[in-house]
Amino acid sequence: MSDFADHEQVVFCSDDKSGLKAIIAIHNSNLGPALGGCRMWPYATEEDAVRDVLRLSRGMTYKSALANLKLGGGKSVVIGNPRTQKTPALLEALARAIECVNGRYIAAKDSGTCVADIKYMAQFTKHVAGIVDKPTDTGIRSGDPSPATAYGTFVGIKAAVKEKLGRDSLDGLKVAVQGIGNVGYDLAQQLHEAGARLWVADVYQEQLDRAATELGATVVAADEIFSLDVDVFSPCALGAILNDQTIPQLQAKVVAGASNNQLAEPRHGVALMERGILYAPDYVINAGGIIDVYQERIGFERETLIRHIDGIYDNLLEIFERARQEERPTGEVADAIAEERCTAPTASGQRADQS
Ligand code: NAD
Repeated sequence: MSDFADHEQVVFCSDDKSGLKAIIAIHNSNLGPALGGCRMWPYATEEDAVRDVLRLSRGMTYKSALANLKLGGGKSVVIGNPRTQKTPALLEALARAIECVNGRYIAAKDSGTCVADIKYMAQFTKHVAGIVDKPTDTGIRSGDPSPATAYGTFVGIKAAVKEKLGRDSLDGLKVAVQGIGNVGYDLAQQLHEAGARLWVADVYQEQLDRAATELGATVVAADEIFSLDVDVFSPCALGAILNDQTIPQLQAKVVAGASNNQLAEPRHGVALMERGILYAPDYVINAGGIIDVYQERIGFERETLIRHIDGIYDNLLEIFERARQEERPTGEVADAIAEERCTAPTASGQRADQS
């Protein structure tokens, strides 16, 4: 299978009693144990599930390497409908399967699983993460890394705006946010506080009303969000939204948002470059969440977390500069830097320690 990219280990797990059918993929553990979310999804075929877990685990290697974490890349997928098939027995069987991998893979929440599921699994395996409550300015937040992802995306937008528009301030910046869920809303709030003007789209009216009232955002229809006359387009909903249909519509000079797998195909990175649009590679700008989970593992300190997430700014500037010099798409340059880092454990390890 072409998605098999030198993965170190792929484990198929099943349990008749609970109905568990899962796959754990460890892509690369040069920098540390393979940490990644546990996704539950009603895949149409086992091949679809294999393809997803192979791609996602590889993405985690790149994400962690670029965020200077002593972590490798891994992911697990459970074949099934999280609304109807996610039982305590299934979560226990999954946790026991993860325990059998002996810490080479560490599970966190992903689509179809939640912090409560991972907390439950912690009774049966030590190898889970993203479950510890953490202090914030205003109180305590759960292990959910979304606020950290939103902050990292905010920092990344600042870097992209500096590179493309030569501006340090976001005051008056026009930003279109696609998807105002966990990450998108928090991001929109930070942009609003920084003086940006917002346009938002979502499929839930309640969230849109809230954004209009609390953040003064202009609500637009889901298919209008691409073509607005704005400075920044920030995808925070779906994957594959940078494609043949949407790229020609974009008026924004910067694409910088939290969604995973934004480019429908690698060639769309070239299409953005040719249109003079600066793309902040998704796994670089949305690394706040994995940084949060990593900091939890090594002993959470809020200031250290923030400093580490602030590093997304320099990471992106390095990618932008190299992309400019080499006249290559930013996503390709990010992949190249990630590959250099995850095959050079010592150098990256030192950077992780300093962060
Ligand atoms: P979420 O489900 O809370 O929010 C997504 C929002 O997008 C929802 O409000 C949904 O209604 C909206 N949406 C769905 N289809 C849409 C459409 N066609 N047009 C406009 N809006 C639409 O998810 P989230 O946790 O906020 O994550 C958002 C994105 O960021 C996802 O792609 C996710 O994979 C990625 N991401 C999240 C994290 C994290 O920490 N939560 C970390 C890394 C990457």
